[in-house]
Amino acid sequence: MSMFCYQCQEALKNVGCTQIGVCSKTAGVANLQDLLIYSLKGISVLNLKARELGFNREETDKFIIEGLFSTVTNVNFDKKFFLERIKQAVGLRESLKTELQQAGVDASELEKNPALSWKYSSESELETLAAKVGVLATADEDIRSLREIITYGLKGIAAYAYHARQLGFRDEGIHEFMEKALAATLDDSVGLERYVAMVLETGKYGVETMALLDKANTSTYGHPEITKVDIGVRQNPGILVSGHDLKDMEELLEQTAGTGVDVYTHGEMLPAQYYPAFKKYPHFAGNYGSSWWLQYKEFETFKGPILMTTNCLIPPRDSYRDRVYTTGVVGFSGLKHIPEGKYGRKDFSEIIEHAKRCQPPVEIERGEIVGGFAHHQVTLLADKVVEAVKSGAIRRFFVMAGCDGRMKNREYYTEFAKALPKDTVILTAGCAKYRYNKLPLGEIGGLPRVLDAGQCNDSYSLAVIALKLKEIFGLADLNELPISYNIAWYEQKAVIVLLALLYLGVKNIHLGPTLPAFLSPNVAKVLVEKFGLAGVGTVEDDLKLFLGQ
Ligand code: SF4
Ligand code: SF4
Repeated sequence: MSMFCYQCQEALKNVGCTQIGVCSKTAGVANLQDLLIYSLKGISVLNLKARELGFNREETDKFIIEGLFSTVTNVNFDKKFFLERIKQAVGLRESLKTELQQAGVDASELEKNPALSWKYSSESELETLAAKVGVLATADEDIRSLREIITYGLKGIAAYAYHARQLGFRDEGIHEFMEKALAATLDDSVGLERYVAMVLETGKYGVETMALLDKANTSTYGHPEITKVDIGVRQNPGILVSGHDLKDMEELLEQTAGTGVDVYTHGEMLPAQYYPAFKKYPHFAGNYGSSWWLQYKEFETFKGPILMTTNCLIPPRDSYRDRVYTTGVVGFSGLKHIPEGKYGRKDFSEIIEHAKRCQPPVEIERGEIVGGFAHHQVTLLADKVVEAVKSGAIRRFFVMAGCDGRMKNREYYTEFAKALPKDTVILTAGCAKYRYNKLPLGEIGGLPRVLDAGQCNDSYSLAVIALKLKEIFGLADLNELPISYNIAWYEQKAVIVLLALLYLGVKNIHLGPTLPAFLSPNVAKVLVEKFGLAGVGTVEDDLKLFLGQ
C-alpha cells in the first residue's frame, strides 16, 4: 500500500485508494497532504495555548484554513505546493513554540507531543514521514472513523470560511473551534462518546460558517434572484470560470469589461449568474456545459482559457492544458497560477490576452435554465409556496442537494427526478443539479419543479427555507414538514453539509450513491439508529418509501 485515502465518494471499491487516487492524486501527494494535516493539528495544539495567553494571529487562522482547503478532493495535485506548505508549517510551529516559551510555557511539555516535535533534514525525509502519519495511523477503526469525519467536516468548513474571508468576513469562534477539533483528533484520551459529540459540534460550526458565507456573499453582491441563464454561446472569445470564488468572478468581470472578451460560468460557478451585482456586466455570458467531471469534454470545445478558482479540477488533457489557469489554493503541476495581487486584487491580464487569441466557444447546447431560489427569493414567494402546499398542488418537497460525480450509479438521480410525481418539487444546491436541471420537469403554479438555491454552500439556504416553513406552519419539529432528503455526496464540503443537517435535527436523510467508506460499521450503526441515515436503493423502492406507498 503506497497511500491510503477514503475521503471522497469515489474511494476505490468504496474502501479506499491505496496506489493512486481514482481522482488521479498520486501516492506522493496523498501522503504529503496527510503530513500537512498532521502539521496543522500540531499548530492547532500550540495556537490554542496562544489563544489562552492572548496572542493568536490572523495569519495562523489563514494558514490553517488554506492548508485544510488545499487537501479537499480535486483542489490541489501539486507536490511542490505541499512540500512548501509543510516547510512553512514547521516554521510556523517553531515560531509559535518560541513565543509560548517566552510567555512562560514549559518547553519540555511542548516537546512531549510527537506532532510538535518531529524534525526533517531533507525533502525525502518529509516524504518518508508523510507515509506514516495518515488515516491508518489510528488503529481503532471507530476512533479513526470519527476522527476522519471531523477532519473532513473541518475541510468543508475551511473551504467556506476561505471564501467568506476573501470578502472580508471572518469569525474568531469558528477558527477557535477548528483548532480545538483538530487538536482533539490527536488526543488519545478522547473517547468515542466525546468524538460523537464533536461530530455534531462540527455540524453546528458548519451551519455558522455557511451562514457567515451567505452573509458575505449577499451583503457584497445582493440576494440571488430568479434568473434565466442562457446555456448557448456568443460570437466573442470567452473565458470560462469554474469553482466557487465569487471575488475572483467579480475581479475578472471588472477586468474584462470593454475588452471584447465574454465571461462564462462552468460547474459550481453557475449560481454567480443569480447575483444582482454581476448582472450589470453585458459581457457576462451564460453557463457553458455542466458539472465538474465533464470538463475533459467541455473545456476542449470551449476553445478559450479556463480559470479554476476552487475544486473540482480534474487532470487536464494535453489538448487544452495550456488554456487552464489556477488561482487561490488550487494547483496542478505545469498549469499557470494567478497569485494573490499586491493590493488584494488579482491581475487577470494574462488570461484576458490569452482569450483574445482564441476562437469563440463551440456551441454544445441551446436554451435556458432557471435558478436563483436562495432563501431570500423563496421567502418573497412564501405566500405562493404555502398556498400550493395547503391546496395540495405541492404534495412534497425533495431536497436533492449535493454533488455530482462521474460514476454511472449517479444516473439514479436523473431517473429519480424523472420518476417523481408532478405534484412534487425538488430543492437543490451544489452540482447534483446537473443530473436533472435540464429536464423538462415543468412547473407548479408558475414555480419551476426544480428550485436551485445555488452552490453547495447554499445548502444553508435550504435549511433556512425549511426552518421558515416550519415557523409558518407552526410545527414543533422540522421533520414534520412534507420534505424528504435524498442527497448526493462526493467530497468533503458535502460532508459538512451533511453534518450541518444532522446538527439541525433533520432525520431520515438518504445519502448516495454509496455511503461513505470512512464510516466504520459501528459509526454507521449510530448514524442509522440516532438519525435514520440511510443509503439509496432502486428508484422504484425509494419512491415508495418516500411517498409512503
Ligand atoms: S480523494 Fe477520493 S478518489 Fe482521490 S484518493 Fe482520496 S478517496 Fe481516492
Ligand atoms: S457540490 Fe459537491 S462536488 Fe460539487 S463542488 Fe460542491 S462539494 Fe464539490
